[in-house]
Amino acid sequence: MSELRRDPLNDRWVIIAENRAERPNEFTRQANRESPAEPPTEQPPRDCVFCPGNEHQTPETLLVRRPVNWNGDSAAWRIRVIANRYPAVEPTAASTVRDSPLHWSASGFGVHEVIVDTAEHVTSITHSSEVEVAELFEVYRARMLAARSLPEIAAALVFKNVGPGGGASIAHAHSQLLATAIPPRDLAEEWRAAAAHFARHGDCIFCRLIEEATCTGVRLVAQTQSAVAFCPFAARFPYETWVLPKRHESHLEHASETALAAVAGLTRRIVAGLEQLLDRPAYNYLIHSGPLPGAVPGGKSAGGKSDGVEFDANATYSYHWHVEVFPRVTTLAGFELGTGCIINSVSPERAAEQVRRALEC
Ligand SMILES: [Zn+2]
Ligand SMILES: [Zn+2]
Ligand SMILES: [Zn+2]
Repeated sequence: MSELRRDPLNDRWVIIAENRAERPNEFTRQANRESPAEPPTEQPPRDCVFCPGNEHQTPETLLVRRPVNWNGDSAAWRIRVIANRYPAVEPTAASTVRDSPLHWSASGFGVHEVIVDTAEHVTSITHSSEVEVAELFEVYRARMLAARSLPEIAAALVFKNVGPGGGASIAHAHSQLLATAIPPRDLAEEWRAAAAHFARHGDCIFCRLIEEATCTGVRLVAQTQSAVAFCPFAARFPYETWVLPKRHESHLEHASETALAAVAGLTRRIVAGLEQLLDRPAYNYLIHSGPLPGAVPGGKSAGGKSDGVEFDANATYSYHWHVEVFPRVTTLAGFELGTGCIINSVSPERAAEQVRRALEC
C-alpha cells in the first residue's frame, strides 16, 4: 500500500509506492531494441502484455471499445482500459490524512488506470490515424468522468509516457490516468493562478493566452477552427507546446465533441512535427483539467492545518483544460534540482518557429 507524504519544508506531496519498483522493464529486457517512436515492428513480441491475446496477463478490463461489427472474440478490441498492475494509488485504500507535529501523510487512496491506446503493437500516437486518436481522447473523457464520480477525488491527470526517456516501461502505446484526493502541487497552482486572474480581471487567463497567440502569431505553432497550439511564454523545456480548445471549457470530462476531436487531432499533429524535427524523441503529454468534487480550496485540512492552496473549487469560468506536450530532449541538472528554476536552452519563440516549419513539411 502506498503513502502520500508532505514535505514540511515546501508543501510538496510525494507518493511513496515501493510496489512500483517491481514493474518489469521491457526496455531494459530488450536492451532498447525499440527506440521510442519506431514505426510498427513487423512481428510484435509474443510476450507484449498489451497485445491482443494476452488480456489474461493484465488486471480486469474497466472499459473496452470493440470494432464496429464485433464477432464476440474477446481479443478483438480497439482500446482497452485496465487497472494498473503496479498502482501508485488504489481506490481500496482509506482516504485519511494523518498529521503529527512534523509530518503529514495520507494513505495512498486514488485511482490508477492504464489505457491501452490501440490493439496494434505501435509505440506513438502518430502511428494511429486521426480518427483513432479522437476515439482515444473520448476514452480519456470517459475515464475522467468515472474518476469524478468518486466524491473524494480532488484531481485527475491523464498522461502518456513514450520511450524509456519518457518514463515508459512498456513499448506498446498506452496512456494512464492517475487520480488523487490531494491535488498535486503544480496542477493546484495552475488552478490557483487562474482563479486569481479571474478575481482580478473577470476572465479566463487561458482564453487571454489563446487570444494573444492567435492575434499576434507570437509563439503560435498551429491552429484549426476549434483548437490552437502554442509554445508558452515561460516554457520550462525545449519545444514544450500546449494544445487548447479555442472555446472556453474548464473540464476534460465535460469537453464538447468538437473541442475534443480538434484537440486530439492537433495534439497528434504536434507530436508528428516534433518527431520530424527531433528525430523521434521520447515524449510525454499530459492533460490538465479543472478541480474534481473532492477538491477543497485551502487544501485538505488536518488538525486545523491547511496546505494553503486557494482556488475556485468549480473553476468553470476561471480554468481551461489543455494538453501539454514535452519532448524529452534534456534532463534536469544540479541547478534545476537545487532550485526548481529550470534553464531552457531553446527559446519558446524559436521552438514555435521550428515546430511550425516542421508541420509544413
Ligand atoms: Zn504489444
Ligand atoms: Zn478559457
Ligand atoms: Zn497546464
